[in-house]
Amino acid sequence: MDFTIDQETQEKARLTRQFCEKNIDPFAAGWDQGETISTSVFEQMAELGLMSLRIPSENGGDSASFVECGSLVYEVGRSDVGLALMVVNGVFFGEIMPLMTEAVRDRWAPRVAAGAPFAITLTEPEAGSDAANIKTTARRDGDEYVINGEKGSVSYAGLAEFGLIFARTGGPGARGVSMIATPWDAPGIEKRPYASVGERVTKRGQVVYTDLHVPADGLVGAENEGFRQAMQFFDYNRAFLTLACIGAAERSLEEVSEHVRTRQAFGGPLARFQGVSFPIAEHLTKLEAAKLLAYKVLSLKDAGLPHSKEAAMVKWFGIREAYEAIHDCLLLAGWPAYSAELEHDRRMRDVMGLELGDGTSQIMKMVVAREVLGRESLPYSRPTSA
Ligand SMILES: Cc1cc2nc3c(=O)[nH]c(=O)nc-3n(C[C@H](O)[C@H](O)[C@H](O)COP(=O)(O)OP(=O)(O)OC[C@H]3O[C@@H](n4cnc5c(N)ncnc54)[C@H](O)[C@@H]3O)c2cc1C
Repeated sequence: MDFTIDQETQEKARLTRQFCEKNIDPFAAGWDQGETISTSVFEQMAELGLMSLRIPSENGGDSASFVECGSLVYEVGRSDVGLALMVVNGVFFGEIMPLMTEAVRDRWAPRVAAGAPFAITLTEPEAGSDAANIKTTARRDGDEYVINGEKGSVSYAGLAEFGLIFARTGGPGARGVSMIATPWDAPGIEKRPYASVGERVTKRGQVVYTDLHVPADGLVGAENEGFRQAMQFFDYNRAFLTLACIGAAERSLEEVSEHVRTRQAFGGPLARFQGVSFPIAEHLTKLEAAKLLAYKVLSLKDAGLPHSKEAAMVKWFGIREAYEAIHDCLLLAGWPAYSAELEHDRRMRDVMGLELGDGTSQIMKMVVAREVLGRESLPYSRPTSA
């Protein structure tokens, strides 16, 4: 299996890191403390091509491979995991473009490529892991859909220019759910960004739809099939999210390695104690293993091969490992890290969010078990659940 990162991508990754260190690092702590990110950061990310990685070349994008995309998501994650989600959303948009009507594609593809954030709204107060059980409805009324319902935990809820709404257009289960695109300033959409444990740059929040009218050509994919069609694209996503978290963890390990080389205690540098150096060595080892598994997922995706099992494996294992690595870095950095003078605590909170977002660790393990043991291993019988 070949997941070589070619010279051109390495150069893009180098430029991305340079950009992030100059334009993201100095501001990430402020965004974490509640400042609103300037749209110019998104525009600059877009100028670097980060928002249009999988938008086809004929629509002004890059048609990058998934392995390439992963290496760039990793770079952004080193600086800010929440912003890496923007890049991941951009890839998702590129992937679902073939499902869009011309109206949706022509309106939003250029905006995404220019750096416009958008929201994907699936989770509801009463449907998270059991996502196929959502209650939000989209009722067809002439040449419009009328949408009512409530969504929770929506990344970019407070910053988006448009949204992709999952809503029930048919019967129960996954087969009754459609995906519909709408401008985010439409009457009938109430956004309530809330205080989040991490990834605060994304202004995550609750969204309420009350008699929201959306032209019917906002439908993405076939009616009642949007959920199933979109889910096909979600597996690789798990490798991206993991790479963003590994980026954050490796950054913390680099910083703490420098610290323990210079910090003096008991007559010499901390680094000479195995109680200090071994956790660093162990985390570097496990993160490297997770990184290789993530690139394997993306390489399988590039080759058009199945990768659900590997994607679920890497999400629960890699993100947990990234969290634990950063936790240890925080402890090895001592009290300054606990007073939030350093970046470890922000990274730790950001990474923890992705233990939940896009499928929890328990759900990932269920996917692995299902792939190996068959559907008999599932604790529920509904055949249409995600
Ligand atoms: C940082 C972050 C970003 C997010 N961004 C978005 C977004 O942009 N759009 C969006 O729609 N949603 C988003 N989400 C929501 C996310 O997808 C859900 O949190 C996730 O699907 C889990 O749903 P839940 O939180 O309702 O937990 P629940 O489904 O209520 O689960 C609660 C706990 O029970 C466990 N559990 C549930 N079912 C089982 C089972 N069958 N077996 C064993 N354990 C089980 C879960 O693993 C979890 O630990 C985001 C969440 C976070 C934290």
